[in-house]
Amino acid sequence: MPPSPAAAADRLLVAGNWKMNGTRALARELAAAALAAARASPSVEVVLFPPTVLLDEVVRAVGPDGDVPVGGQQCHWAPEGAHTASVSAAQLAEAGCAYVLTGHSEVRRELGYDDARVRAAADAGRASRLRPIVCVGETEAERGAGAARAIVEAQVDAVFGSRSAGLEADVAYEPVWAIGTGRTPTVEQAAEVHGWIRARLEAHGAPRSRILYGGSVAPGNIGGFLSQPGVDGVLVGGASLRADAFTALVTAARAAADRRRP
Ligand code: PEP
Repeated sequence: MPPSPAAAADRLLVAGNWKMNGTRALARELAAAALAAARASPSVEVVLFPPTVLLDEVVRAVGPDGDVPVGGQQCHWAPEGAHTASVSAAQLAEAGCAYVLTGHSEVRRELGYDDARVRAAADAGRASRLRPIVCVGETEAERGAGAARAIVEAQVDAVFGSRSAGLEADVAYEPVWAIGTGRTPTVEQAAEVHGWIRARLEAHGAPRSRILYGGSVAPGNIGGFLSQPGVDGVLVGGASLRADAFTALVTAARAAADRRRP
């Protein structure tokens, strides 16, 4: 049984999204590095999102102690059925997952997940006791048009709004134009968006949800993002595919956690 992510809610979170990358050999190498980094940095929660076919390899490599929770990169909204090529939340849970990403911009764009499906996928995740990390973020054109706030708030509202009880899930703010591009918002721009998201989460009865920043996070810039009190961690794509870079990110997060201690 994977550990409860809620138990780690007060730690900074560093999550690696491997996307459609990796072999079994690389998965073993990255998982071993993540495990060592997590054990050296107890103030940081380290989570891995491998491709579905590598979940078993990663779950075996990180072991049963819960030091490195594992998640699925997305799940279907339906519990089971005729949905060729998809994976259900229950299947992810049985494979040892504690988390699931929902609404990653690549899933929205390539698989046609709109806000309603992202909400339904998050609900499916909760029904299988997975903790969703709901990805939101504006495109470059939307930011250019001054619509970033409206877009991000609408994406948050679509998933967290209109509920009798708050959704137990986290959010990743990932400006689409920053994913895999080497470009990032300024630390102040990211902090501003996190503030907008925090206000919506409080309005929707989810004040304890964490808000991660994602988009070209690297060892050279993570410190800036984590210097902001409203940034509870990072979601990392490209840099999570190199053991040395991912280890450096976890170490930097530990230093940021140390600086936050009163
Ligand atoms: C991502 O896809 O979630 C991501 C943040 O990617 P990258 O770090 O490569 O920009």
